Amino acid sequence: MHQLTLAEIARGLADKKFSSEELTKTLLARIAQLDPQLNSFITLTEDLALEQARAADARRANGETGALLGAPIAHKDLFCTLGVRTSCASKMLDNFKAPYDATVVAKLAAAGAVSLGKTNMDEFAMGSANESSYYGAVKNPWNLEHVPGGSSGGSAAAVAARLLPAATGTDTGGSIRQPAALTNLTGLKPTYGRVSRWGMIAYASSLDQAGPLARTAEDCAILLQGMAGFDPQDSTSIDEPVPDFSANLNGSLQGLRIGVPAEFFSEGLDPRIAELIHNSVKELEKLGAVIKPISLPNMQHAIPAYYVIAPAEASSNLSRFDGVRFGHRCENPKDLTDLYKRSRAEGFGPEVQRRILVGAYALSAGYYDAYYLQAQKIRRLIKNDFMTAFNEVDIILGPTTPNPAWKIGAKNSDPVSAYLEDVYTITANLAGLPGLSMPAGFVDGLPVGVQLLAPYFQEGRLLNVAHQYQLHTDWHTRSPAGF
Ligand code: GLN
Repeated sequence: MHQLTLAEIARGLADKKFSSEELTKTLLARIAQLDPQLNSFITLTEDLALEQARAADARRANGETGALLGAPIAHKDLFCTLGVRTSCASKMLDNFKAPYDATVVAKLAAAGAVSLGKTNMDEFAMGSANESSYYGAVKNPWNLEHVPGGSSGGSAAAVAARLLPAATGTDTGGSIRQPAALTNLTGLKPTYGRVSRWGMIAYASSLDQAGPLARTAEDCAILLQGMAGFDPQDSTSIDEPVPDFSANLNGSLQGLRIGVPAEFFSEGLDPRIAELIHNSVKELEKLGAVIKPISLPNMQHAIPAYYVIAPAEASSNLSRFDGVRFGHRCENPKDLTDLYKRSRAEGFGPEVQRRILVGAYALSAGYYDAYYLQAQKIRRLIKNDFMTAFNEVDIILGPTTPNPAWKIGAKNSDPVSAYLEDVYTITANLAGLPGLSMPAGFVDGLPVGVQLLAPYFQEGRLLNVAHQYQLHTDWHTRSPAGF
């Protein structure tokens, strides 16, 4: 039963082959048995899950239908969940129980999805390896000595190991697409504003966006359908109609113009990954797509711009964790300043502290113009590059990451080498565009992802292309040995 996709689960539940309660019990037992190897969950909510599963079964017995009704999922532990710990994988929030559900959580619960728990992540979503969690590193089910990617690494490892069919993630600079690539999943970052950020603990507010991680594009369509839509509680949510993603998966790719940017294949890309990406291009050509070489000339500036803007916004967002109203508070503070200082020094891990320092520096008087303002200008140039490219092509294709999953600990002494792994993903966040990563093959037994980018609000196009590709390839069906 654990091999079933969301689409297959929906059919099985509709045909009464099994109940949501049976399925939920099977997966909870599998998590209890296998997750100690992976560390993909921070909190399991078994009782709540069984309650939701029974409620979904009752709704189906009453004639209700719906692709998510009774479907098991899990949430990255930065979505606020009423009465359930929301830790952001930080000591700072180890004791925090949110007094409300995030919009994404509430919407999926209303659609009848069954939440099994909260998944591990990089602390405050800062990272590309899921090594910075207060609750310990997450392991990649394809090789337990390697990272699963981050920051949505717990969601990715759990889905890749068939502990559940799909999970939510968030992507500020690649945190859905990159772990999807490194664990052989399909992951989608929607257009900025497509999914509500209300109740999602903020890392960098102008970049953060929630989306689905699943094994197939078909399943990403189902989960995204349950997440997307205008939310008046989020002032950056966009009031744009949400199409029926599942209904649009079968469009023909005949004549689809795919842009392949030269800058995505420059130095630093593992040549074995380059070859797999070229193979996926050939596959799409067979399906009728037309390939056009394009250029994104300002891409080289993306990492420096991102690593100014994201920490700047983070330093502001994380100022609310001061030991006063919620979260960690130090013992016996001497005075208010001591309370702030020690609560924050004890509550935040080293990577979070590094980002706060970088961000506060970049925003400080005298440096604002030199760093933050420059970075914002680069952001505009990158957006313009994409707009020019999308005048000529329908989607843009390239690798998701320059390298396969690295060994746990390999980049600990050199944070910048980890930042460089984000080179292909962060441009979509800077421009606010939707992006998808899907399985494209293996290097040394480790999965490789191919990335597709589309114009604003064209998530449906990404899912359509990915689904057609997956009908003609079988990379996404491979499962890691031992899981
Ligand atoms: N790796 C990037 C960072 O550390 C992206 C993280 C994310 O998308 N949440 O900021």
